[in-house]
Amino acid sequence: ATLFKELMLETAALKDLLAKPKQIVITTHHKPDGDAMGSSLGLYNYLIQKGHHVKVITPTDYPQFFDWMPGNEEVTIYTEHVEAANQLINNAEIICCLDFNNLVRINEMGEVIRQAPGFKIMIDHHLEPEDFDDWRLWNINACASAQLVYEFIVNVMDEPHLINKDVAACLYTGIMTDSGSFRFPLTTSGVHRIVAHLIDAGADNSRIHQLVYDNSSESRLRFLGFCLSEKLEVLTEYHTALISVTHAELERFQIITGDTEGVVNFALSITGIKLAAFIVERTDKVKLSLRSRGDFPANEICKRFFSGGGHRNAAGGSSTDSLENVVKQFKSILPEYKKLLIQ
Ligand code: 5GP
Ligand code: MN
Repeated sequence: ATLFKELMLETAALKDLLAKPKQIVITTHHKPDGDAMGSSLGLYNYLIQKGHHVKVITPTDYPQFFDWMPGNEEVTIYTEHVEAANQLINNAEIICCLDFNNLVRINEMGEVIRQAPGFKIMIDHHLEPEDFDDWRLWNINACASAQLVYEFIVNVMDEPHLINKDVAACLYTGIMTDSGSFRFPLTTSGVHRIVAHLIDAGADNSRIHQLVYDNSSESRLRFLGFCLSEKLEVLTEYHTALISVTHAELERFQIITGDTEGVVNFALSITGIKLAAFIVERTDKVKLSLRSRGDFPANEICKRFFSGGGHRNAAGGSSTDSLENVVKQFKSILPEYKKLLIQ
């Protein structure tokens, strides 16, 4: 209830704004994950029921295992249709920014949105939001942005009856993926109640798990095997495990967007490991994915050393240095954090 106290004042104005059909753009972060797509398409499927003209624009492509989501055929990938997307953004009366809170997270789209005249709504659960929005539903204790979209529809807009099976399937996917299939600490009983409502509203939970998690190519699975058998380094002294992969190795396994998703979690699943890193040489830069246990601040490492950020237990960053140097740099950081890592 406290979450909405301050919001209530401005909610009347927002309801007014959404009372008549509007041109709306929904966008989400670079390389969208399940929560990015789930919250965006969840909101999309809600807004179209109210008669709005809605477009979802993603900054980049996203994994094929989200292609099945209702509304997917309406998604525009910014880099593939820059001019059309710019036009949509500039003509939008409302721009909804979901699952990110800093315009650098949407690449070159960021400045277009900053300059755009539309009313900007942020729905997000990441730390330290940038001040570019006109209205926000922001809570770092939400396990997923999809949870906040649910709360937006049910508690802010008072329209629980508009949670139809399409909205439900999308929001279920967002919550399922960002909560690590309902296992991370923010998966409260309240989240389970929301999920129960989504299933009652028509989310086919078993099917969604299969579509997202049992939908790998053979080469993706062989790549995972290769990472675990050949590339895993366990730094016992620092309770840290890391996997680093060259660009040539990505090509050897014909890795496509989404195929590296989840690899880092295997490194973190080793008993006693407190910090896990997946470091990969992409075409333009080296990308790091960090995961940690308990109070170890993975986001602090990403922020201090790799121009990134994220949550305490799941963070990311990048570097323009070589893969070899990034791995060296990562290892050189560990002594400073040894106390925290071994406690
Ligand atoms: P992943 O490792 O799955 O790419 O990202 C995990 C989390 O770290 C994301 O949810 C996001 O919050 C954060 N993250 C990943 N990459 C970046 C980045 O380059 N910059 C920032 N600020 N956060 C990132
Ligand atoms: Mn999220």
